[in-house]
Amino acid sequence: MTHVGRGLGGTEEADVATCPAGLMASDTDLRAGLPAGRDYRMPVSKVVSRRTVLTAAGPLGVGALLAACTSPSASPSASTASSSLSASPSGSGGPRVLVIGAGAAGLAAAGRLAAAGVRVTVLEARDRVGGRIHTTTTWPDLPIDLGASWIHGHLGNPLTPLAEAAGAPTVATSYDSARSYVAAALRAKGLTDPDTARWERLTEQALVAAAEREADVSVATALAGMPWYPRLSSNERADLDFYLASTYDTEWGVDSSDLSAWTSDEGREFAGEDRLFPQGFGAVAAHLATGLDIRLSSPVGRIHATGATAGGVLVTGDGIQERADAVIVTVPLGVLKSGALSIEPGLSARAQRAVQRLGVGVLSKTFLRFEKPFWPKDIDWHEYVGEQAGHWAEWVSFAKAGVPVMLGFNSGANARRIEAATDADVVAEAMAVLREMFGAGAPSPVAVQTSQWSRDPFALGSYSANTVGSNREDRVALAEPIADRIFWAGEATEPDYHSTVHGAVLSGHRAAEAVRARLSAG
Ligand SMILES: Cc1cc2nc3c(=O)[nH]c(=O)nc-3n(C[C@H](O)[C@H](O)[C@H](O)COP(=O)(O)OP(=O)(O)OC[C@H]3O[C@@H](n4cnc5c(N)ncnc54)[C@H](O)[C@@H]3O)c2cc1C
Repeated sequence: MTHVGRGLGGTEEADVATCPAGLMASDTDLRAGLPAGRDYRMPVSKVVSRRTVLTAAGPLGVGALLAACTSPSASPSASTASSSLSASPSGSGGPRVLVIGAGAAGLAAAGRLAAAGVRVTVLEARDRVGGRIHTTTTWPDLPIDLGASWIHGHLGNPLTPLAEAAGAPTVATSYDSARSYVAAALRAKGLTDPDTARWERLTEQALVAAAEREADVSVATALAGMPWYPRLSSNERADLDFYLASTYDTEWGVDSSDLSAWTSDEGREFAGEDRLFPQGFGAVAAHLATGLDIRLSSPVGRIHATGATAGGVLVTGDGIQERADAVIVTVPLGVLKSGALSIEPGLSARAQRAVQRLGVGVLSKTFLRFEKPFWPKDIDWHEYVGEQAGHWAEWVSFAKAGVPVMLGFNSGANARRIEAATDADVVAEAMAVLREMFGAGAPSPVAVQTSQWSRDPFALGSYSANTVGSNREDRVALAEPIADRIFWAGEATEPDYHSTVHGAVLSGHRAAEAVRARLSAG
């Protein structure tokens, strides 16, 4: 088992986590008091960085805050394995490649191939590019990122030069003020403040103990197996549940009862700052799409590696019938799991197992817009310790940016439930919590925007996660080509940087290079 994360303050890729996963302190910058070089063995990265907003950095604080808002083994069939790609089926002009999906992975792959002079066409199911990068313009004065918001670690990150080339401004973020609010029912029983340091330490011990088990278990099961666990009071359970929800569950969009104790924090991260896009992440997707042959509203239903004589690969769908020498498939893991895409020859046994074992998390974002702020304007993160674990536990205020907006995060089962609810029900739930936090007089919002990643047929979740029994090798298996014709990219296929935009871009580059190598091999 490997636990890796990002070292704070480093200038190169780091592979040891050196910051706390918590951050529940009241009005405290926890970064300051960290023991140097300690391996916390915690899934720190995206929790921390998705939660980060600018510290006292003058005007940048406002900018950053606004930005948060605005922003198988290849087991080829005998009939197709050795077919030659040089016998192009697609007419003059050299080999042709199709890319399925115009998210970060597909666009990066297509761009790399086009730059190398390869004829490439992108088939995208939606009427827009970007996939899980989605900046809305519903509020004309305030672009909203319903999907990805942050460049996580700007040093060496492929997104850094892309953002520059796109002319998309970014602002650095770091830890900022946070305040926690304990539900009245828990306060009445004596819980005044969450004890992040305690739960972090005990969770670390539980994961170390779980590493000795013969089989992987969930993070929650690892904790439940500790001798002290049965002795926890109801308040302590609520506090621990809050810690798990606000770190693990929010990190991966998967409840700790499903997350792997062995591998949930596998992966690598880039060092440097986390950076937000004040005008939205969408600018990066638009830049990646520039100059490419992209066919929108083109959902693919079947990909058939037919062999050279019959045309290499046949891709069909609603109104689509395209032949190519090779195809790069970037559809999300959620779509693969749903079986909506037929692949012939089928996935290898290893890849099929990977599709089953890897999980798909849901992180939901709900933006509530008010007439004016009714909460403390000088605090960015507002965290709610309630009786129901993870229920509207994380809030970001945009008041410092002069915008009366609160962003509520939910993850896992909570997120799926919220994304299935009507706007009216979502607002009712959210306001019940905000009124518990800030008083019964809190007015209703004037507008709401909520993500729907779990219900979106072309996403079916937010990003991949290592659920119990899954590991890095599953991602490697997912990335293996089929019949030397069907190549794979997308965040879930990236073994080290999965679940991120930069991971998606890296996977696209990897697949493009594999296709180029195959094309030149003939
Ligand atoms: C709420 C949320 C917050 C996030 N926050 C961050 C963050 O701050 N930083 C970060 O780095 N990452 C973040 N991520 C993760 C990041 O957005 C993804 O990892 C990344 O965008 C995935 O890119 P991709 O190209 O692999 O997949 P996608 O972007 O999903 O692209 C796949 C494309 O395939 C298309 N498609 C699907 N089915 C078909 C079909 N049958 N035919 C044709 N096309 C099809 C889809 O429409 C889509 O456009 C977040 C994600 C979410 C949802």
